[in-house]
Amino acid sequence: MADRTAAQQERLDALLQEKRTFQPSEEFRRQANVSDPSIYDRARRDLEGFWAEEAKRLDWFEPYRRVLEWQAPWAKWFVGGKINAAYNCVDRHAASHRRNKAALIWEGEPGDSRVLTFGMLQREVNRFANVLKSLGVKKGDRVAIYMGMTPELVVAMLACAKIGAPHSIVFGGFSAEALAERINDAAAKVLVTGDGAWRRGNIVPLKKNADAALESTPSIEKVVVLERIGKAANIAMWPGRDLWWHELMDQASDHCAAEPMDSEDMLYILYTSGTTGKPKGVVHTTAGYLLGTAATHFYVFDVKEHDVYWCTADIGWVTGHSYIVYGPLANGTTSLIYEGSPDYPDRGRFWDICDKYGVNILYTAPTAIRTFMRWGTEWPAKHDLSALRVLGTVGEPINPEAWMWYHEHIGRGRCPIVDTWWQTETGMILITPLPGITATKPGSATRPFPGVEAEVLDENGRPVGPGAGGYLCLTKPWPAMFRTIYRDPDRYVRQYWSRYEGKYFTGDGAKVDEDGYFWLLGRVDDVMNVSGHRISTYEVESALVDHPAVAEAAVIGRAHDIKGQAIAAFVTLKDGTAATDALKDELKQHVARKIGALARPDDIFFTAELPKTRSAKIMRRLLRDIAERRVLGDTTTLADPMVVAKLKRQYEETGQAE
Ligand code: ATP
Ligand code: MG
Repeated sequence: MADRTAAQQERLDALLQEKRTFQPSEEFRRQANVSDPSIYDRARRDLEGFWAEEAKRLDWFEPYRRVLEWQAPWAKWFVGGKINAAYNCVDRHAASHRRNKAALIWEGEPGDSRVLTFGMLQREVNRFANVLKSLGVKKGDRVAIYMGMTPELVVAMLACAKIGAPHSIVFGGFSAEALAERINDAAAKVLVTGDGAWRRGNIVPLKKNADAALESTPSIEKVVVLERIGKAANIAMWPGRDLWWHELMDQASDHCAAEPMDSEDMLYILYTSGTTGKPKGVVHTTAGYLLGTAATHFYVFDVKEHDVYWCTADIGWVTGHSYIVYGPLANGTTSLIYEGSPDYPDRGRFWDICDKYGVNILYTAPTAIRTFMRWGTEWPAKHDLSALRVLGTVGEPINPEAWMWYHEHIGRGRCPIVDTWWQTETGMILITPLPGITATKPGSATRPFPGVEAEVLDENGRPVGPGAGGYLCLTKPWPAMFRTIYRDPDRYVRQYWSRYEGKYFTGDGAKVDEDGYFWLLGRVDDVMNVSGHRISTYEVESALVDHPAVAEAAVIGRAHDIKGQAIAAFVTLKDGTAATDALKDELKQHVARKIGALARPDDIFFTAELPKTRSAKIMRRLLRDIAERRVLGDTTTLADPMVVAKLKRQYEETGQAE
């Protein structure tokens, strides 16, 4: 992105002219957890002092000797400290005024619900910790967890943390093959699963998938099965290997001492979503991770003691690890968990849940927001959302129109929106507004969190100027950073730390505007090169989504003899809109008007669905494979492989999608 003429630069500047700004209200600022912007200077002047001050949020069994040892790319935080994550998330609250406060509010998809106080959660975690011990799990042994969104999933992960056994959670939507691959990479000793989970009124066959996976997972000795569905799940239990959760729990003692863990002991392994290629086993350690998630949760979401906080992610992803479980519970926050789908029994389910429990803070993803836009405003309009105070988003760049919709129809013009940029690898939120002090601009994640230093660099490692696109890099360590790739330290160094000496390469494109605000442009792979112009797929997508007929769009650059790349857009239309050639022309015009003629799509395909990962991110690399008529790359992390197979067939038969 370095060598650009002035004219090209001018065009890039014209991309996505977003001028709207939203100031925090005086009323919000007055009560905010951060109302003084000097926090940024304080952290910049003394990074270690800043995090040492934050470290007082946690209870330590033994104090640390040094805040940070940094020899890029190897970091140690809170060196010599002894601490336990489960103790900090549960026991210390159970021993305080929070004992009878709700730790977890759970809503099952069929409408059943449960509340676990910190006191109750403590008893469950202790029992399951004893169950794991009785199955031979020792400190350092890996435990695989493949469950639906039930309180027992949280119990299982905290029980692992309590005895120092790293968990490796595999999202319940993954196939047997994907599960086996992850179990084997981590060489897990025990698998915790369920007879099934409810999703859109159907049973997700967790145990059946697990049985298939277990045919090729020699490390697994025992399987613990939670009964969620009952008879209808129709599962088989293997004698000697499979054990029922409730039978083991009945016999287990509810006392268990927390294992004192070294700050740098592994807390968990988590495999990335696989949007860009083969999943990586990201390793997070104990103290820095817990502190980073707790501090960001406190500041970014402005949580208060009596808030009900709901992060809609699945616990199988890092967002669920950091912002359903570890961050909120470390802060003693009431964390809501919903088992099922947003359109069951109808498209108002999320708003019904917000209404029912008086949700104060909601954290969800742009893909969900775009879906809600497509469903129409009548669904949220039916419910009382007046308890909402802060709205968050994560997972991909949010299109300005989706941001505005969230602001108007969910926040009712009243709630600050925090667009939080981070990754599985970063463990914690790194670029984000602080809702009491940051003026927000729709589509921008605004500024690095205090103590976080980010730069946008060109190919040669030079910072690019305001408005120019480049590679987002992080130049200082942060406590929740991953420490390595499990059993592949070379990949850790090669993939993340080799492009620019001593700097973390995020793999995302970004630009910074004159106000120092960061605009994420998607993955570096998702930046197109059309006749020498660098155009972000995200910006073309945002222009398309801005058109009233469009529900969602995925844009890719396909190889083109003359231009280098041509722009191909795969578009889903809003319910009830006819897919006509006239509309295609209109959409091309619309993009040209919004961004400039250089961004006019060469082809537009209408499709009922887009290929997505199981964390609901669009897999552009597969669309590129289709458009370039190649064999499809790795599809194991797709939510529904049929979608891409069908699209490929249509494309090959007609050169068109539906
Ligand atoms: P893989 O690394 O296996 O390809 P992944 O990158 O999709 O998978 P995650 O770690 O869950 O897995 O996602 C992190 C990525 O999500 C970021 O690198 C970025 O591309 C995108 N992202 C997350 N939050 C935001 C945000 N607020 N704005 C823009 N992009 C975001
Ligand atoms: Mg990634």
